Amino acid sequence: MPNIMLVVSAEMRNIALFQPRASSNDTTINYFFQVVCEQCGWVSLKEVCVSLGSGLYYLSFCYFLRYFHLYFVVNGCDRQGFILLIQGHGNPLSKHHCRKVGLMMFNCDGLIPITYLFNDGWLAVMTSGQEVHVDLVGREYKNVIDGEEVRITNLEAKFVPRG
Ligand SMILES: [Zn+2]
Repeated sequence: MPNIMLVVSAEMRNIALFQPRASSNDTTINYFFQVVCEQCGWVSLKEVCVSLGSGLYYLSFCYFLRYFHLYFVVNGCDRQGFILLIQGHGNPLSKHHCRKVGLMMFNCDGLIPITYLFNDGWLAVMTSGQEVHVDLVGREYKNVIDGEEVRITNLEAKFVPRG
């Protein structure tokens, strides 16, 4: 069962810290992404939505319980897919570390996440210390706050296998 890290890069201006609201371990943040079936290559048309706060579920197998945040059986090939979010591996983006920053770890079996969709639940801390709620649905943020230009551009997100 591979672990896959959601890795984010951005260019930032006048921003000291940038992360999902509260933190990368925030239980309320939703991760939206498409999934591909490991077995037959089927790709979900719509994004799935997973969050730590949506509940940890389990199925009981012969000798063990299987925990997950997302489960479904792929139509057609009948592969059972599980995705479990693993806390404690995420970091915020910062002024000096804003390329390929690991945000959340996903333990995947059967379903592999692809194509992450940025949502509106982000928080930026300006170099002045002021906090700004950031909507990234448009994949960038530009504003002028107290005479300072604030910018988050060139956003990239990738799912990268991690041992
Ligand atoms: Zn399949």
